[in-house]
Amino acid sequence: MSQTYKIAVIPGDGIGPEIVKEAMKILHHIEEHASYSFDIQYALAGGAALDQVNVPLPNETIQICQEADAVLLGAVGGPKWDHNPPELRPEKALLGLRKELGFYANIRPVTLLPGMEERSTLRPEVIDGVDLVVVRELTGGIYFGEKKREKTKQGEIASDLLVYYDYEIERIVRLSFEMALRRKKRLTSVDKANVLESSRLWRSIVERVAKDYPEVVVDHMLVDNCAMQIVRRPTDFDVIVTENMFGDILSDEAAVITGSIGLMPSASLGNGNKGLYEPIHGSAPDIAGQGIANPSATILSIAMMLRYSFADENAAQAIERAVTQVIADGVGTPDLVKSGQPAICTHEFGDRIIKRLEQEW
Ligand code: ATP
Ligand code: MG
Repeated sequence: MSQTYKIAVIPGDGIGPEIVKEAMKILHHIEEHASYSFDIQYALAGGAALDQVNVPLPNETIQICQEADAVLLGAVGGPKWDHNPPELRPEKALLGLRKELGFYANIRPVTLLPGMEERSTLRPEVIDGVDLVVVRELTGGIYFGEKKREKTKQGEIASDLLVYYDYEIERIVRLSFEMALRRKKRLTSVDKANVLESSRLWRSIVERVAKDYPEVVVDHMLVDNCAMQIVRRPTDFDVIVTENMFGDILSDEAAVITGSIGLMPSASLGNGNKGLYEPIHGSAPDIAGQGIANPSATILSIAMMLRYSFADENAAQAIERAVTQVIADGVGTPDLVKSGQPAICTHEFGDRIIKRLEQEW
């Protein structure tokens, strides 16, 4: 009997349902050509869940995601829920899901697709051939350490504790070495070891784990220098691994290289093959319902799902080639085409990618 993979699908809010619809067309197309099949379960989260069941992350959704091999998420949030109290914010759903499912590594590939050079704010000769991945630690660091605020005689003080356990560092460092091994075999570990004790622990663990990966060339870079090098010579990087807050900042910075936020996929991974796949952009309420959202980031997230959760590298690359070629032909949603050029709508763009994908089999 052929293998069946369970996929939980959370369309979410704003443009979420529009872009997820296109990604699902791709998944169904893959299923027709692959030796495995999919068992798809839709689930509620974010604003859609608040509207229907008054909580951002229903238990039923957690259960569906726990039983799934992979989760596809559109986007959550929007102005309708902006004034909700903290525990009733749509964004709560995302943090909750990552935690419940044990996803500690956020993977953001950054590539420059042909035809997008002019859309990037960086010079074409600087970004030509960029192909890097930022791996950000998701569950530890300063975002989760003890927070304090108190009034003292000298004045009011506030503090955020930056804590890492050795095992938290080791698991993400190993995952990054494995990734580098499958790519260009270069790993840049980013820290602030000249001032932070947590960075010194981080660095020593990278050195230790590196002994198990002699084929991978490792270097250490201070975060301030990395922030500069990522826009100065981005083609020098392969895999960048760093802690939570540094990764948050560097991955957004790296996104400017690609020219449109509508092109960037992501995966959140833990131990094992299970993952959560989503575009890096938000629910884009300003363009929701107009049929002009770019579905590429979500479709490329499907490619990541096939690569990391279902080990089908061929299908992943076929999707990436199809998206790349359609865009290289100058076809796209308004965010992709040159000003003055005609654009096509979300579902036409999805259809063009499918047509291109058909030629790949
Ligand atoms: P969040 O807080 O949820 O990350 P945000 O406020 O950072 O949201 P986004 O929702 O990511 O913002 O949108 C930022 C801008 O990018 C908006 O102008 C939006 O229309 C545009 N945008 C985002 N995603 C897409 C897309 N897939 N296609 C076209 N434009 C997009
Ligand atoms: Mg944002």
